[in-house]
Amino acid sequence: MNEIEKNLKEIKTSLPDSITLVAVSKTKPVSEILKAYEAGQRIFGENKIQEMAEKWEAMPKDISWHMIGHVQTNKVKYMARFVDLIHAVDSYKLLKEIDKQAKKHDRIIHCLLQIKIAEEESKFGLSQEDAITLLASEEIKKLSNVRIQGLMGMATFTDNLEQLTTEFHDIKTFFDQLTSKYPELKILSIGMSGDYKIAIDYGSTMVRIGSSIFGARNYG
Ligand SMILES: *Cc1c(COP(=O)(O)O)cnc(C)c1O
Repeated sequence: MNEIEKNLKEIKTSLPDSITLVAVSKTKPVSEILKAYEAGQRIFGENKIQEMAEKWEAMPKDISWHMIGHVQTNKVKYMARFVDLIHAVDSYKLLKEIDKQAKKHDRIIHCLLQIKIAEEESKFGLSQEDAITLLASEEIKKLSNVRIQGLMGMATFTDNLEQLTTEFHDIKTFFDQLTSKYPELKILSIGMSGDYKIAIDYGSTMVRIGSSIFGARNYG
């Protein structure tokens, strides 16, 4: 058994059945990603549209590709014909463009709203208030080719347990508040290699795990 297959098996066994695993393959070559595919993994996450499109071309076509990174509106067109779920939607403008591009391909593209939960200034995302306004807006109802399925959050990169639990607790509370009004919201995408076990305790339904599967990333 290769290292990637071994890591995947280990993580799979530790995850409750109800949790969806997104294998984050950013920066990793197709040859490595194929090892995860051959071990049964079918959902992969990337954070750069160009890189994801190249991998989509090269890889088997029964893969569900998730865009987990920040999305520039002018690049949506490069992934519209194949992307399954876009995790980091943070504006109406972006949703509108996703809808427009999805229509061209006669597809529905699933989306999550990224909610800002970390203290760090650099993290993208909507405030809870802005997410409420967006979900309640009239404009959003006209977008027939996008489906908002839930929320995504990125916690602060820290090993301070108290801070992590506070951030996950906040987004889970907000998620529960929204789902009572919008029962179609089913996905709470929180948890990465370093914090996914805590995220699951706080109600994650989808974890995005990269380095614990593929090993550390080398940024050139
Ligand atoms: C890279 C990345 C991950 C995975 O990070 P690991 O620590 O390698 O598991 C998860 N989510 C997002 C948004 C990422 O950019």
